[in-house]
Amino acid sequence: MNNRQVFLSHLAQTTDFPLMIEVEKAEGIYLFGPNGEKYIDLISGIGVSNVGHRHPKVIQAIQSQVEKYLHLMVYGEYVQTPQTRLAKALAETLPPNLDNVYLVNSGSEAVEGALKLAKRHTQRREIISCVNAYHGSSHGSLSVGGNEVFKRAYRPLLPGIKNITYGSYSDLAQISQETAAVIIETIQGEAGIRVACREYFQALRKRCDQTGTLLILDEIQAGFGRTGKFWAFEHFEIVPDILVCAKGMGGGMPIGAFIANKEVMGVFKNNPILGHITTFGGHPVSAAASLATIQALQEEKLIDQVEQKANLIKSLLVHPKIKGIRNKGLMMAVEFESFEVLKKIIDRAIELGVITDWFLFCDDSMRIAPPLVITEEEIRQACQIILQAIREAG
Ligand code: PMP
Repeated sequence: MNNRQVFLSHLAQTTDFPLMIEVEKAEGIYLFGPNGEKYIDLISGIGVSNVGHRHPKVIQAIQSQVEKYLHLMVYGEYVQTPQTRLAKALAETLPPNLDNVYLVNSGSEAVEGALKLAKRHTQRREIISCVNAYHGSSHGSLSVGGNEVFKRAYRPLLPGIKNITYGSYSDLAQISQETAAVIIETIQGEAGIRVACREYFQALRKRCDQTGTLLILDEIQAGFGRTGKFWAFEHFEIVPDILVCAKGMGGGMPIGAFIANKEVMGVFKNNPILGHITTFGGHPVSAAASLATIQALQEEKLIDQVEQKANLIKSLLVHPKIKGIRNKGLMMAVEFESFEVLKKIIDRAIELGVITDWFLFCDDSMRIAPPLVITEEEIRQACQIILQAIREAG
């Protein structure tokens, strides 16, 4: 059996349409296959490789941590330098009320922690989330997801969840003194890149303040520079009560966090009731990689270049088959007529050496979220290939 056959018969499948790209090595924006294939990665492993694959600073940090220690103890018991340095560096990117960092393993786990924290802190049970939101795949995070088709087969899920429409002012009236938290993606990712406006977020913040509801912003996909600010909420001049992040945070290593202030986070300690417990959360190697990722983003001024690179992509991707482009920075969706049309373009682009895909809840739009290190020349080359794929796709 070759590798692809083993993949299909021994690795549990998650989709009818796996991309099936076999990769031997990755570097910067490139993936390399076993038979000399070279691909431009325009999706960054779904918003993960913001600093590019195997960024030298990240590799160096991993190597140096591996020489010291791997796992020592469950999260929160020992003082581990990679975790303390990371928490401090994260706090320095954030407003003063987001200074208490709980390190976990993944986006879904960060959402679980945030939801539990909101319930404990407010002693309320209702959670409000958005239609077409994606917050993860575990039972709790799936419960606050906003796609009924995805949820139906797994019911009963968490009770007390209400969905509102992202960006709808009138729906904000549903937030009440019963509501523990609103969880919302600052930029909706899997819905196909939907961007609400500053005024909406200001109104949402105000309504949460009026009702004593905690505002949880999910920046698992939008954080770490992807939108042209370190945190996407900076665009809207609001501050959440709880922030969740993961994906780009580890520079390619698994790590996530939920972040609040000491007062809110304090309900998880000094109490016989378990707060949140995680064996591998904030793994020292991942934490070291994450700190190096933050340093790379800042030292190389990658975030400052995002807007210009996004505008270049928008100016190049012009074709009658493209119905429109939605984006916030380098979090982009290019809309086509249908999934059938898009799928052929994606397949042809992969043959030509450019990797894109579609969104969980929006399959007529092409995901473009390249590593932020992509150069203007590489953008031109990638866009030319996409246009060629559009012309050649059957
Ligand atoms: N929230 C958002 C906005 C996401 O995009 C994702 C992953 N696509 C998650 C949560 C879940 O993260 P993970 O897959 O690491 O559990």
